[in-house]
Amino acid sequence: MEQVTPNIWTETRVRGCNPSFVTTSDGVVVIDTPQLPTKAVAMRTEAEHHGPIRYVINTEHHVDHIFGNHWFKGAGTVVHHQGVHDRFMVVFPELDPFAYALEAIPTDDPEGAALVPDRETYYADLNKYGLVFTGDLTLHVGDHTFQLLHTPGHTPGQAAVYVPEERAVFTGDTVFCDCQTWLMTSDVDQWIAALDRIRALDVDHLIPGHGPVTTLAYLATQRAMLLEWKTAVAVAVANGWSREETVARVNFADRYPVDIGQGYMMDYIQRLNAGSLWDKLTAVQVSAAP
Ligand SMILES: [Zn+2]
Repeated sequence: MEQVTPNIWTETRVRGCNPSFVTTSDGVVVIDTPQLPTKAVAMRTEAEHHGPIRYVINTEHHVDHIFGNHWFKGAGTVVHHQGVHDRFMVVFPELDPFAYALEAIPTDDPEGAALVPDRETYYADLNKYGLVFTGDLTLHVGDHTFQLLHTPGHTPGQAAVYVPEERAVFTGDTVFCDCQTWLMTSDVDQWIAALDRIRALDVDHLIPGHGPVTTLAYLATQRAMLLEWKTAVAVAVANGWSREETVARVNFADRYPVDIGQGYMMDYIQRLNAGSLWDKLTAVQVSAAP
């Protein structure tokens, strides 16, 4: 794992999100768990080398941030926003999280296959129960402060974790650094407000959900990408393009690669990003009577 500050370690170079941990004078706080089973087991061992794990925070409900919770059973208290809790490993029409997690194993973690229980066992023993919050939450662990900021946009239950003592923020997928942005489950306007909230923090290190560790300066690039997507689809709608035509013609595949191990999903991301924005921009807004 990569050491970012004296107390922060993260992993940006394996398939899945950037799972991380912070060491304190009273144990360790894990932020998102590795999607690949052998990486999850290895990270738990590495984290526990620095002391007992006090909390396992999930920044969002997407499977690449929560699937590995299974291998952290009994290691501290799971913490996440109500919005994560409500969607934790829930099968949606666009994605079956268990099947999607298994899809990565033959190519990215063949040895991990033996560690994965069958679906029934996995769901019977879901490591999602602990501390569930709405709004923001502050945790004090040893000499460190963990401010969990509700920053919806990429997902409804999104949280950023601000650690002032390390001058660092873990944004989760509110930031995709130098890789493709997934926005099919998103509210772009909320997402931009989330970027503003993070920009107001006094930090030197920004640990994104995907891609290399960066700084607050990258927030402007992420904002531009969101606005480009939304504007391109808004122009398509204004031109009277159908959903099919919009999906066929609006594409940002040339802008960035997909994060590690998911290159084969480029087309899927482009289609779902464009299609979901078209759906939202053409939906009839019904406002309640005053
Ligand atoms: Zn995500």
